This record gives sequence, C-alpha cells and structure tokens, in this order.
Amino acid sequence: MEQDNKIQQQRELIEEKESFGAAMGTLMTTTEKFDAVLTASVVPWETYERLAERAWTFRWDVAELAAATDQVEFETQQLEQAWAVAQLEMQSNASGSVYEAVIDSLGGGFVRSVLDNESCDGGESVLGCVYENDPLVVHFDAAENTQPFMTDEIRTGIAYHEFAHVLQFTNPEASEVAVTSFGGDWEVMADCFALTYLPGWALDHVVWTSSHEYWEVSIGHGVTCSEPQRQAVRDWYGQVGVQPQTIGTEH
Ligand SMILES: [Zn+2]
Repeated sequence: MEQDNKIQQQRELIEEKESFGAAMGTLMTTTEKFDAVLTASVVPWETYERLAERAWTFRWDVAELAAATDQVEFETQQLEQAWAVAQLEMQSNASGSVYEAVIDSLGGGFVRSVLDNESCDGGESVLGCVYENDPLVVHFDAAENTQPFMTDEIRTGIAYHEFAHVLQFTNPEASEVAVTSFGGDWEVMADCFALTYLPGWALDHVVWTSSHEYWEVSIGHGVTCSEPQRQAVRDWYGQVGVQPQTIGTEH
C-alpha cells in the first residue's frame, strides 16, 4: 500500500513537471512574436527566470510545481494580451493626432500617446514627457499643443524626442552605455535620436503665422549632436529591443 502511494506520488510529480515544461514551452513560443519589438521590457525575462528557478527549487513538491505552472500560464496570457492590444493600437489613431500616428509607427503599437495636462517635470512650456515608472505612455502637453507656433513638423520632432525616452527607459542596459557619448545627458541624446532619424529635423525653427509675423521656436535642449554622437545613437537603436533568451536550462 505504501509502495502504491509512493508510485502514485511520483507519477503526479512527473505529470506536473511535464505540465510545467509544456507551459514554459508555450510561453517561449509566445515570446518569439516579440522579436522585433523595440520596448524590451515588454517581455519580462527576469520574471520567467524566477519561475523556472522556483520550479527547480520545488521540483519534489506537486502543489508548488502546479502553482508555478499557473504563473507561467498567466505570463503567457499577459504577453498575448499585450500583443493583441498593440495590434489594435497600431490600427487605430483614436486621437487623430500626428503625435499618435508617429508614436504608433515608431513603437509598433506598444507605446501609447496621450494628450493631457499632466505637469511634466520641468514646469511650463514642457511639450511632452515620459515617466520612468510608466514608460510605455508618452504624455504630450495639451496646452502647448494649441500654441500658434505648433506645426505638424514640430509635433513630429517632439514625438521622436519622447520616443527616445521610451527606449531609454525600456532598454536600460544599452541606454546606460549609449548615454556616455552624451556626457550622461539623456535629453541631448533624445534630441540626437530625432536629429538622426527624422529627415530634415533641426532644433531651431522659424514658424510664420501670417505674412508679417513669425515665431522663432527652439525645440529640445540646445545641443545639435555631432556625427560620432549620431553614430552612437545608430548603434544604440540597432541594439534596443526584445532579445531572445533561453530560460532555465543551466540545471
Ligand atoms: Zn526630453
């Protein structure tokens, strides 16, 4: 009888290990869709690594293994949902704005844009911002958006600058290296991203609002980056994004 129980327990354990392995396999297959996604933090590899560690630590405990399997399945659902939401976001331009069109196309739908009056750090005349703790949302300032000098060209440049901040926050390791080419100045680096990738972009603009009236508008932080700095931005942009990883094979 005791022997039977042991065999039964072992069978359950083997089944549960197989379930965990299958769930992890599904999760890894799901991550493959994200290969071209630039906002790397969308795929939380450390969380997956922790779940694999947990399953290894509790490999003799059916209940713990089952709980780990549930969590892996939950992570797969999260990814699938993020993917579905991004596809919808890409297809729609809910606000009808240039801001949203640019952010959708740069961010592949994984980055949202909102036009609001959130007070971005830096006070008045801040045109937009991204919060480090909510890096997949770009805030564009609604009041500044109605300024007489505001043109779609300027909105596009602002959106490029803000998108660079999204990439900085969601790709911290690559960004820490790249920012050294800018003396640690994240803003000058973000300006440089716009200057490198938006054809014809400049920091200083003259905007005519009538035949005899114009505005001189400076967007950004006043430093037009050098060619080596542009190359640093290109190298960085080539590196950012979800990197395929292998989870939990070292045991
Ligand atoms: Zn900025």
